[in-house]
Amino acid sequence: MTQSHLSRSSSTSPVRVILGQNTGLRTGRGTNTYLLGADRLTLIDTGAGVPAYDPLLREAVDASKGRLSLILITHGHRDHIGGIGAVQRMYRDAVVRKFPGGEPPSTFEPIVPGERIQVDAITLIPIHTPGHAADHLCFYWVEERALFSGDLILGEGTTVIPRDGGSLTAYLDSLEGLRALDIRMIYPGHGPIIQDPQAKITEYIGHRRMRERQVLDALHGGARTIREMVARIYADVPKALHRLAEESVWNHLVKLAEEHRVRRTEEAGQEFYDLLG
Ligand SMILES: [Zn+2]
Repeated sequence: MTQSHLSRSSSTSPVRVILGQNTGLRTGRGTNTYLLGADRLTLIDTGAGVPAYDPLLREAVDASKGRLSLILITHGHRDHIGGIGAVQRMYRDAVVRKFPGGEPPSTFEPIVPGERIQVDAITLIPIHTPGHAADHLCFYWVEERALFSGDLILGEGTTVIPRDGGSLTAYLDSLEGLRALDIRMIYPGHGPIIQDPQAKITEYIGHRRMRERQVLDALHGGARTIREMVARIYADVPKALHRLAEESVWNHLVKLAEEHRVRRTEEAGQEFYDLLG
């Protein structure tokens, strides 16, 4: 299994993919970090801070014969930003930029969605895409009509909408917003490169719609707690994944409650959900 490989698209601009070396239930084979450019290099995300990542990044930077001048962060989750300290120690001149959120304001140079980030021949436009995380950005590469999608769209599996900072309503709005863009290729934060972006976006939206129908069906069938709904909807999924499934169902219930289609009540410290109307 190669840890770093070169993906050459139609133009002369190579993209180097460097895996964060952080495999796991939520991260798959690990976080993809991307190195772009020829002379002045841009790095998108930094992995989780696994020491084995550092020499791979150094190798990729050295092979490109450029110098790392800009680090862009898609969002503040540990598996994307955790390597920032080590990367900055290796490349002290590189500017670090992200959408503001949580951290002290002086830590990074803030990104304004819609601005044009120009590094030599590469133009990147940051798009604010909350849902998986409130501070989430995708980066649209103008010349290649490619999208660095962070955790909004993944190469395999589906995105988790965490209770902390996530919103399914915002997530679906972010996906819908991408439909207007001319995207030929997606470089996701995890998993393989996506060659048919529009089909993937449609699939993602369709997947959530299907899940919502299942949650509504479970409610119709008399399930009132998240655990009961998960037991019905995810009957054929290993128990080890039910914690993630509970988050997913909870997110749909929050969305349905926002739309006044479901009511949430609490009795003796337990949450119950009922259909409205
Ligand atoms: Zn994330």
